Amino acid sequence: MPFTIDLQQLSGVLMAVVAILAATFTALWISLIIWTFRDMKSRTRDVFAQVMAALVVAVLNIPGLLVYLILRPPETLAEQYERALEEEALLQEIEEKKVCPGCGNPIQDDWRICPFCHTRLKKLCHSCGGLLELPWTLCPYCEAAQVEDSGHRRRAGTRQDDEPEYDEAL
Ligand SMILES: [Zn+2]
Ligand SMILES: [Zn+2]
Repeated sequence: MPFTIDLQQLSGVLMAVVAILAATFTALWISLIIWTFRDMKSRTRDVFAQVMAALVVAVLNIPGLLVYLILRPPETLAEQYERALEEEALLQEIEEKKVCPGCGNPIQDDWRICPFCHTRLKKLCHSCGGLLELPWTLCPYCEAAQVEDSGHRRRAGTRQDDEPEYDEAL
């Protein structure tokens, strides 16, 4: 009965193919779980999140991996650290290089006026003579209200007598 023998051979071959496929699939599945766990480990220090990510891939397999790829933190810890360093360096650069808003020449922190273009940079407290930023309406050193020469008298006033808009709003 050559037909039966053929069928047996065929089923044997099929079994072998299925076994190889199953082994491949299992290896792929396990490596996906390991990859996910390692990848998540490089993105967060949260152990719970690492285990959860690996579990999602373990249970849902390739769709789980897709879900993980969509939801995972966009940056690795190394990238985060690098970006923080870059931002800090950038901030320091900005803080170090103070320039005149009028002409762009470098200025010092304690200058009251730009020597190049005569733009007013700082003002003096009327009460204690402390150096104040121009928009400040209150001296941080002696608490004296700074009454402007023109225009901004209401903003510069003290709380008690010069903020009627609060009462109106209520
Ligand atoms: Zn200037
Ligand atoms: Zn003052």
